[in-house]
Amino acid sequence: MTATMTNATLVERARQVIPGGVNSGNRVLPWPIAFVRAEGAYLFDADDRQYLDYHAAFGPIILGHNHPQVNAAVAEAMSRIDIIGAGVTDLEVELADRLNRHIPCAERVLLTNSGSEATYAALRLARAVTGRNKIIKFQGTYHGWHDAVLMNVISPPEKIGQHDPLSLGMLPDVIRHTIVLPFNDTEAVADTLHRQGEEIAAVLVEVIPHNIGCVLPRPEFLQALRDLTRQHGVMLIFDEVITGFRHALGGYQSIVGVTPDLATFAKAMANGFPIAALAGRAELMDRFAPGGGVFFAGTYNGHSIGVAAALATIAELESGEVHAHCFALAQIAADGLMQIAAELGIPLTVARFGSVFVPYFMEPAPIENYTDLFRNNTARDLWFRKTMCEHGIFMIPTALKRNHVSAAHTRADIDRTLEIARQVLRAMPADLERS
Ligand code: PMP
Repeated sequence: MTATMTNATLVERARQVIPGGVNSGNRVLPWPIAFVRAEGAYLFDADDRQYLDYHAAFGPIILGHNHPQVNAAVAEAMSRIDIIGAGVTDLEVELADRLNRHIPCAERVLLTNSGSEATYAALRLARAVTGRNKIIKFQGTYHGWHDAVLMNVISPPEKIGQHDPLSLGMLPDVIRHTIVLPFNDTEAVADTLHRQGEEIAAVLVEVIPHNIGCVLPRPEFLQALRDLTRQHGVMLIFDEVITGFRHALGGYQSIVGVTPDLATFAKAMANGFPIAALAGRAELMDRFAPGGGVFFAGTYNGHSIGVAAALATIAELESGEVHAHCFALAQIAADGLMQIAAELGIPLTVARFGSVFVPYFMEPAPIENYTDLFRNNTARDLWFRKTMCEHGIFMIPTALKRNHVSAAHTRADIDRTLEIARQVLRAMPADLERS
């Protein structure tokens, strides 16, 4: 490292050569930090400061950063086969077999490089199979950066019930084919399908909307989506980009026992290496080219780096020990935060599922959809995340975002997090207004 490579100099240089200084609009930090190393549960910045990482690169890191077995599998694959771009590799066959075995809806799988590509392909297939154009998504969910889905995630109150596109430059014609409904609202889905079912190709749902923290589906909601979509000839697509592999090898569908027509996976599937998958019933998936007329391609699809990483990650997850460890620690973190807030008289609800926990700065009450989260005190939420980071605990610095526990986190890490959270919450200014 050269003497001039500090957080400040790197961030300044980045601003000159990369738009906004980041390679994703979601990566902006409220402080000048440039990371130079990651190891286990820790990140290290250019000023040699270390952070306990709950951000987990937005979710992929489930085994810990720089995992030796995953790295070794990737190195082994790279020493033997990088990318062929013709036919198929032994690694791709092995991974497809493994995914088909673990994921209830999977009889066939296709590989892409990102979750966005997977949801794009799923929707194209649904339109081709049904001959219909419209789709349903839910307020508060994120499914990637393409025009059909990039809307109504963190919407302001005045935008609820109307389209809230997240970008300039999106095609109005594409946007208007997406219907946005409240999550967990079976009536709204039933009513829309009753009125417009013959125009609707797919219901696309983040099974747990983790893009607004951790909002659990009512037990009957996903089953109702299954029944209603079947009744109306609509494809049911589960977006398991976050839930897949993080909560169970077979995704949340294997936990709730509701099997969609198609499902998308990414993130924890390969512990941070770039790969994603679209899985589904054979008769649907076989409609993709070359067997059917639905175009599907990508120079890097099935690249041995991602495939080898996925195989090694899945092998680590198969014993169940990683999940048991992460779930237990996340529970301790969630309970501990609630306890501390109660002692300090601070309204706090900590939602948790599996290895994911999310502090909402509001009185405990059922959280069923995005509008329930209007009660979250955003100013407190942001202040807490920022101050925790200043104390070396790295959380996504955006309101409502989730924390992820990995296999590399230890009980001591959680205890230290709670100790720091106690100091931080005790110091929280009382006049941080809800905004
Ligand atoms: N679906 C969900 C549920 C996601 O959380 C994300 C990414 N945060 C995506 C799709 C898009 O995945 P990617 O960023 O890999 O394109």
